[in-house]
Amino acid sequence: MPRCSHPTHAPRPFPTLCHLHHHRVTDQAFVTLAADDVYCQGALVLGQSLRNHKTSRKLAVLVTPEVSSGMRSVLSSVFDEVIEVDVLDSADSVHLALMQRPELGVTFTKLHCWTLTHYSKCVFMDADTLVLCNVDELFDREEFSAAPDSGWPDCFNSGVFVFRPSLRTYNLLLRFAAEHGSFDGGDQGLLNSFFSNWATADIGKHLPFLYNLSSSSVYTYVPAFNHFGRDAKVVHFLGATKPWNYKYNLQTRRVMQDGTTSGSFHQLSFLALWWNIYSASILPLLEKHQKMEDSESEECKHAFNGVEVTLKKISPCVPSSLPMPELPEQTNEVNPTACSPEELAFKAWLYFSNLCMKSNQEILMSISLSLTDLQNNRYLNLCFRKPQK
Ligand code: UDP
Ligand code: MN
Repeated sequence: MPRCSHPTHAPRPFPTLCHLHHHRVTDQAFVTLAADDVYCQGALVLGQSLRNHKTSRKLAVLVTPEVSSGMRSVLSSVFDEVIEVDVLDSADSVHLALMQRPELGVTFTKLHCWTLTHYSKCVFMDADTLVLCNVDELFDREEFSAAPDSGWPDCFNSGVFVFRPSLRTYNLLLRFAAEHGSFDGGDQGLLNSFFSNWATADIGKHLPFLYNLSSSSVYTYVPAFNHFGRDAKVVHFLGATKPWNYKYNLQTRRVMQDGTTSGSFHQLSFLALWWNIYSASILPLLEKHQKMEDSESEECKHAFNGVEVTLKKISPCVPSSLPMPELPEQTNEVNPTACSPEELAFKAWLYFSNLCMKSNQEILMSISLSLTDLQNNRYLNLCFRKPQK
């Protein structure tokens, strides 16, 4: 695992107060965005990684109304501030389709970060990033600082950037968006057009690539990665497959590879690092919260083929990628919405019957899982039990 062997790698013209021990800077913050409960998993790991490396800055997370109250209370145990914002959507399906990322319209919501005017300077970080060391020196930079995008280095990547909250800038950005749209349909295209002299005007605003190292693209220039990779400071799990989409084996502490994930060694070790933080620090938070919710929710029992299935609605805290056994595939065909609890229980039973039959214990299995595919984004706890004879 590459580590920051030279924490002072970035140019640091003169020592500033913020580098002194125990000095808290309350008017500067790291800011991220979680537009839904799934990306909250990423935000939590990012926040925890910043805490692990003892940042002296505040941590703020923007959430949309879609983020559940349960998840907000978990977020508030890692972040200083959980701030609700409206969804801003580019609704630019044509450009997003070109990138094959229809979900990125929602990333316009990021623009709300300029409204956080109780901070004088902030560093925005995508929810799919992770810090490998203390990166507080980023606050020595000015708006608008960002690292090159590995796909088109004359553009910056908008996963990590330094900015100054300002309602004036916020309104200019919204007006610019309305007039010109975004060439890629997401926030990155818009911000690159808005801060259009980034590539040429001031090299001080070019963050080293080490502050936004795309976990997959490092393999396009392997010698460079071998030479510089050990100084990586921020990993960005850019692209459609996020760390929470992988399966992780809690015993071996390894990310499981299936046919579709051909990760290289470094990519897998970055993923394992994400999962280590997730399983060591975030899962316990989610579980603690879930236990509280569990006691308040009702359960219903159904019996199929002599196996009792208990369904219990729980707060959607456990991501779909929670480490769990391999599932048979036909589930994706189940129609989510119009399911009665009985139907749902039956489908769930069908879904897991193969799995259950393999085990012979009285309680065949008790798992919490996302049944997003089955019903309205609800999360259920399923308990399979063989009634005693
Ligand atoms: N985001 C979100 N929910 C989504 C899509 C995006 O919360 O469904 C937020 C999140 O902070 C994410 C950022 O917008 O990190 C940018 O999207 P993403 O990281 O997926 O884009 P990429 O870095 O892969 O281009
Ligand atoms: Mn990202």
